[in-house]
Amino acid sequence: MTMSITHLGTGSRGNATLLETKGAKVLIDQGFSGAQLEKRLKRLGIAPTEIDCIFISHHHGDHGGGARIAQKRWGLQILANKRTAEELGLDPELTSYFDALDLVKVGDDLAILPVPVPHSGADNVAFVASHGGERAAIITDLGSWTDELVTHVHGCEHIAIEANYDYNRLMNGPYPYSLKDRISGRGGHLSNDQTGEFLANVCTAATRSISLTHLSEKNNQPHLAESTVLYHIDEVFSGDITISLQDGPDYTHYIGEKSTEKHSEQSESLEA
Ligand SMILES: [Zn+2]
Ligand SMILES: [Zn+2]
Repeated sequence: MTMSITHLGTGSRGNATLLETKGAKVLIDQGFSGAQLEKRLKRLGIAPTEIDCIFISHHHGDHGGGARIAQKRWGLQILANKRTAEELGLDPELTSYFDALDLVKVGDDLAILPVPVPHSGADNVAFVASHGGERAAIITDLGSWTDELVTHVHGCEHIAIEANYDYNRLMNGPYPYSLKDRISGRGGHLSNDQTGEFLANVCTAATRSISLTHLSEKNNQPHLAESTVLYHIDEVFSGDITISLQDGPDYTHYIGEKSTEKHSEQSESLEA
């Protein structure tokens, strides 16, 4: 029982993440053009028509802008809440609607829980995917977190979460004051420090990997995001931390059996 999690790209120019189990291939968000999505999936040896369905977190173009293209070009099924589907003008015949905290099953070995998060002018959700008793969270575009999100993400094996900006870079950077205010407000994005504080609340011994996503190209740097987050979770997390940038696919994370296999390979090589 293994699930893989691969970010095809994350950031303000487009987001999509592939979740793959034995029985299902699902995308979280489709913020790319049809050609870009096809190209990125091809690097993984997958055709768009092999995707079972796409979950959309919210209607902003970098997350849902390519959803209609996926319906039109490949007849793919989109899952979203009502508001997001309306804003994106999705084809109702190829759309299924979920409510907050409704567990959605895909195939016989994957279930996805949408958890509402606050984000400017959008009905945004984070997703917690379960497979064989293990869980992976995909969380992006939120200005702050809720106790409800902490409850659902606590102890997940893999956590992908945005680390959007470095607070000092944003405040000293080129954006007009109103935009700085919007980004750093309750409905904007998480700073590296906020992401670190959230992770300190949810990481347990079960948490084996973290990927930091949706870094601002103007107001952040990978080394700043990684060092700031690690400062907050040093005592509670000893797994792998990676950064997923705009041009993916990059790393593939595994939860389930594969990580146990990796473990035994490691101990064998230590013995040798
Ligand atoms: Zn975004
Ligand atoms: Zn957004």
